[in-house]
Amino acid sequence: MNLTLPAADAACVDTLMRPLKDLRLSVIDQCNFRCTYCMPKEVFTRDYPFLRAAERLSFDQMLTLSKTFVRLGVEKIRITGGEPLLRKDLPRLVEALARLETPDGKPVEIAMTTNGALLAAQARALKDAGLARVTVSLDALDDAVFRAMNDADFPVARVLDGIDAALAVGLAPVKVNAVISKIRNADQILPLARHFRHSGVKLRFIEYMDVGGADGWRLDQVVTAAEMRALIEREFALVPQPGRASDTADGFRYMDGGGEVGFIASVSAPFGGDCTRARVSADGKLFLCLFAAHSVDLRPLLAAGRTPQLEQAVRASWSARADRYSEQRGMLRTDGGARRYPVVRMSLVGG
Ligand code: SAM
Ligand code: SF4
Repeated sequence: MNLTLPAADAACVDTLMRPLKDLRLSVIDQCNFRCTYCMPKEVFTRDYPFLRAAERLSFDQMLTLSKTFVRLGVEKIRITGGEPLLRKDLPRLVEALARLETPDGKPVEIAMTTNGALLAAQARALKDAGLARVTVSLDALDDAVFRAMNDADFPVARVLDGIDAALAVGLAPVKVNAVISKIRNADQILPLARHFRHSGVKLRFIEYMDVGGADGWRLDQVVTAAEMRALIEREFALVPQPGRASDTADGFRYMDGGGEVGFIASVSAPFGGDCTRARVSADGKLFLCLFAAHSVDLRPLLAAGRTPQLEQAVRASWSARADRYSEQRGMLRTDGGARRYPVVRMSLVGG
């Protein structure tokens, strides 16, 4: 049975009048890949202090938390990680979340970001549990490049099988995100674009960002959204698509009807000013931005079952939010490219 949540007493907006609309929920900080820009092997070793199972939020706690966010205005929940499909029994969580309805009776949309390695096996169960759509991260089509980038020697064919399975069960629209950097995979832009034309998949190219803290990011490794678009336009004519202000991607369609492609200019044109997104890490910490200076630990309130206080804590954090971190970090990056802002681990907080 569906569960319509009563609205909170007042609308939840921040100091820039941005409503809280999206929640990214990280369900695990571990991953079966070691993407060199996210979880480099030298840092994320066998001895790395990943969260113990008991430190992660339980599904019941995630459900309580999600209800709170929905009461405060959230309409979409994206499950992420680490690699979310490593969390045992994930369809059980999806099933519970998919029953939630907003105060005005609309179903809350449940989406997921995954590396796709385990998707072929789980797509049907996830769809049946109520997952609406999936985004698969795939940075290369060439098998050797892909194996080197995931640094787990994982073949690209199995991720492509996962994408096919997602399409087959109707997890629509299936999106594919490719993070491009000059030193790793700039030569994969055109092969990826060609492969996903006419496939029903929405491909989005993302600028390599200075998040995570585990990697020696440098501005000169970034391929800008404008450069990626220009490269594709040499081969295929593109037409801009109108988008929402809070959309992170600049959307285009191929003029010849080949489908859609997008570009996320997270470094060259940061988009924090319209951001309606909150993130909760696998251990229950609330982050208001990937570049946020601090987090609020919600786990003690969840553990004690203090739901009214939980709602108060989330509201207080969101209402005080005055940041435009993604835009401001450009200003912070002054000392010859050295970072001067706190760094949040992407694999813990979720992308
Ligand atoms: N493991 C899942 C996956 O890879 O889709 C979900 C978590 S992962 C942290 C989410 C997204 O963050 C991925 O698409 C990944 O490419 C992206 N990401 C990680 N580090 C990044 C960086 N430095 N710049 C841009 N995107 C990054
Ligand atoms: Fe794992 Fe995703 Fe990070 Fe790659 S980007 S290491 S798949 S969490």
